[in-house]
Amino acid sequence: MSMFLSQMGIANTIIEKESFPRYHIGESFTGEAGGLMRSLGLEQKMLQKHYPVKHGVRVYGPTGNPWFVPVMRRNEQNELEPVTTWQVRRSDFDKLMYDEAVARGATIVKGEATVPLKREDGSVYGVRVKMADGGVNDVHSEVLVDATGQHTWGFHAGMTSQKVIGKYDRQVAIFSQVKNTLRDHGTARDEQPDNTLIFYKELVHWAWFIPLDDEVVSVGIVSPNKYFQAKKESRRNFLLRELGELNPELARRVPDLELLEEARAIPNYSYHVRTFTGKGWLCIGDAHRFIDPVFSFGVWITAKEGQLAAQAIKGYLDGAHRDDPNPFADYQDYCERGLDKVQALIDAFWNDPIAFAFIAHRRHPADIIDLFAGRIYSDKVSAGLNQLYKINERGAFNPADDPEWMKRELGDALTP
Ligand SMILES: Cc1cc2nc3c(=O)[nH]c(=O)nc-3n(C[C@H](O)[C@H](O)[C@H](O)COP(=O)(O)OP(=O)(O)OC[C@H]3O[C@@H](n4cnc5c(N)ncnc54)[C@H](O)[C@@H]3O)c2cc1C
Repeated sequence: MSMFLSQMGIANTIIEKESFPRYHIGESFTGEAGGLMRSLGLEQKMLQKHYPVKHGVRVYGPTGNPWFVPVMRRNEQNELEPVTTWQVRRSDFDKLMYDEAVARGATIVKGEATVPLKREDGSVYGVRVKMADGGVNDVHSEVLVDATGQHTWGFHAGMTSQKVIGKYDRQVAIFSQVKNTLRDHGTARDEQPDNTLIFYKELVHWAWFIPLDDEVVSVGIVSPNKYFQAKKESRRNFLLRELGELNPELARRVPDLELLEEARAIPNYSYHVRTFTGKGWLCIGDAHRFIDPVFSFGVWITAKEGQLAAQAIKGYLDGAHRDDPNPFADYQDYCERGLDKVQALIDAFWNDPIAFAFIAHRRHPADIIDLFAGRIYSDKVSAGLNQLYKINERGAFNPADDPEWMKRELGDALTP
């Protein structure tokens, strides 16, 4: 966001409490996230870093053949064409972004944002910062942006509306890194060594496999909290056992169960803050909503919202919506509509993975490729998205209850 603001000649200050490089989860990019890095002129830097090149996502269910969603962009004729995106080690990538923001004009304040500075009418004009070297500093702003991620600072500081739990809240992700894995080495796009692999067992119980370099792969298990607690295992033992048991294909690909770093955990990461803008402030990214990590939307959504918010701020500084009760209401609405599509995509996958695979692979592959890439910011509802809505209207589904449903509703038979 800082880079977008600098591009438009808007002075910006980043207040950051951590020192970079620091560990972070969120390593796989969607196609549009790669496109956004290119649009910021960062492609050469990404290539110099030798970040793994991702051609798509391969999804393995408990039985049957895997299905693949390739990374593709829309060209000027609005046709789909192959493109690649990246997997990144976030400690390295976040430092790259931070250094680049500084090089392009950002001012850095090293410290922790504590409370917003408010006028009598409730509008925000800055933030109090507990400085890293001790002391307190009041930073004044025309617009204060909360980009604090899962810390959801704006909510804790009493600026936003309530933080309600999301649909995928009662889950835990446990993750680490491994090596000596079995990767694909074919010529087709779905056989590229650096693709993301997803393995699912049952509702909200799944695993990721995301290459971080030629040797190291990020692996994570996501399960209901209850399941993790019932196992009464340490994070490490849980992760190691699940890597061996969750899906036979995952076990085959990770034969060497030695973790290269500690097993980390993030529980209850799914939430929604509906009012995340106001007079003199707004939120981007995880600071207001996080749905579920299954299809790697986080970095894309945050970065895109950074771009959208920068445009809204430019308009505001030029006089647009200056006296409105909420000058950033349009931005908020636009973000929410995009995120609702992500929610529909993920809900449909969990409601009925088999029907989802059928739509993704056979009926409307182009529409699902668009959604997976992150092309969610348009009012158009594609035929594929419409069918995902249909799945969600029906809710969680067991094919044994109504074997004819797919034929009737989706208008075609599922070939086994
Ligand atoms: C298990 C899991 C797996 C994921 N996998 C993926 C994936 O494969 N791909 C993907 O794209 N996304 C993934 N995500 C999501 C991704 O991690 C986030 O969506 C993304 O990092 C959000 O970026 P952000 O800028 O909003 O927040 P963050 O990246 O968390 O940045 C917030 C920053 O704010 C700073 N901060 C916080 N509070 C303060 C304060 N008070 N004062 C000053 N600084 C502060 C923090 O130090 C931090 O640097 C995953 C998430 C989870 C939970």
